[in-house]
Amino acid sequence: MRAIYNAARGGSPRIQPMPIFSHPEFDAHERVAFAFDAASGLRAIIAVHNTRLGRALGGCRMWPYASDDEALTDVLRLSRGMTYKAALAGLPQGGGKSVIIGDPRRDKTPALLMAMARFVDSFQGDYVIAEDSGTGVEDMRTMASVTSHVSGLHAGAHNGDPSPATALGTFIGLRAAVRFAHGREDLKGLRVAIQGAGNVGSRLAGLLHQAGARLWVTDLHLPAVQRCVDRFGATAVPMERIHALDVDVFSPCALGAVLNAQTIPEIRARIVAGAANNQLARPQDAQLLQQCGILYCPDYVINAGGVIDIHYQGPGYDEAIVRRHLERIGQTLTRIFERARDGGQTTAEIADRMATEIFRA
Ligand code: NAD
Repeated sequence: MRAIYNAARGGSPRIQPMPIFSHPEFDAHERVAFAFDAASGLRAIIAVHNTRLGRALGGCRMWPYASDDEALTDVLRLSRGMTYKAALAGLPQGGGKSVIIGDPRRDKTPALLMAMARFVDSFQGDYVIAEDSGTGVEDMRTMASVTSHVSGLHAGAHNGDPSPATALGTFIGLRAAVRFAHGREDLKGLRVAIQGAGNVGSRLAGLLHQAGARLWVTDLHLPAVQRCVDRFGATAVPMERIHALDVDVFSPCALGAVLNAQTIPEIRARIVAGAANNQLARPQDAQLLQQCGILYCPDYVINAGGVIDIHYQGPGYDEAIVRRHLERIGQTLTRIFERARDGGQTTAEIADRMATEIFRA
């Protein structure tokens, strides 16, 4: 473990001590580094969880965190998740993540992005940055003028946007869950409630619509719902009711912690299959889902399509190869469902164990 408490080269580094080893989310991170750059106002953290399978790849989230600890907790949790995600997606890469503390609409400047790029560069390739909430392809291009350790720059099928692949991977995973739970191949007439009609949720709605499913959709942003109503014949639903609808599948595609002690007993769907990260509010909520007879597709397994796509982005990108790799999400989920059924454990526990077997091997 190497912990660095310093900064972007060329800026004005300052020491910012903070408990790391005793942090509840520490989980044997290989390296955690903090950067402060007075000139640009950059305050950032890079966490590298595990590089046994390869260089740590993970997005850069920019968010006005209420406290330093909130930012640290987020980056540690997300970076760990990337290790597990890459391992189960069969990718030769490790897990890492970065956060910039600030409001992307107000605080993001070229100088801040350059300082972040110097910070990334100080990892000498152990950490490779990509876009995430609050950052985009343009920001990655700005950083690429400073460091070569930037991913998601070279257009794949959708100009570098991983959302279509995430939506397709989620669709493939949902289909595998339906096959496992109901023994049916087609999705005609399947009733699916989608929470969040953003980049991923709206595309997933399109794929499900094409496959003949019936849709119920909600979003904070009403025009996003209306588009699904107009294009896919979806039924608009109030936000607070979406998880409790009488449908076959509940698909969280908005925010985290939606599966919790309050919502789980109200879920009537037999399958939860959605793209949102960190869907379980607490680890024990996986048990609660199992007790309620709900088949849960572990989030980092079903939403790995984006990271798979990013892996292939670059010269020679071949959509058919990516598609074949995305199909493996369904196969991996089926193995998880079988092992969970046979061993009496939750799908979340089995996914964690299978990932650990891979990245600690
Ligand atoms: P997005 O921001 O484009 O869409 C999220 C949508 O959810 C927005 O339209 C927002 O208005 C809506 N929303 C927010 N709070 C809500 C609430 N309480 N109820 C209903 N709707 C709400 O994000 P996205 O790229 O579509 O990602 C969706 C989820 O999938 C996120 O959790 C993200 O972390 C995860 N994810 C995305 C990708 C990807 O490739 N984009 C990859 C892996 C995981």
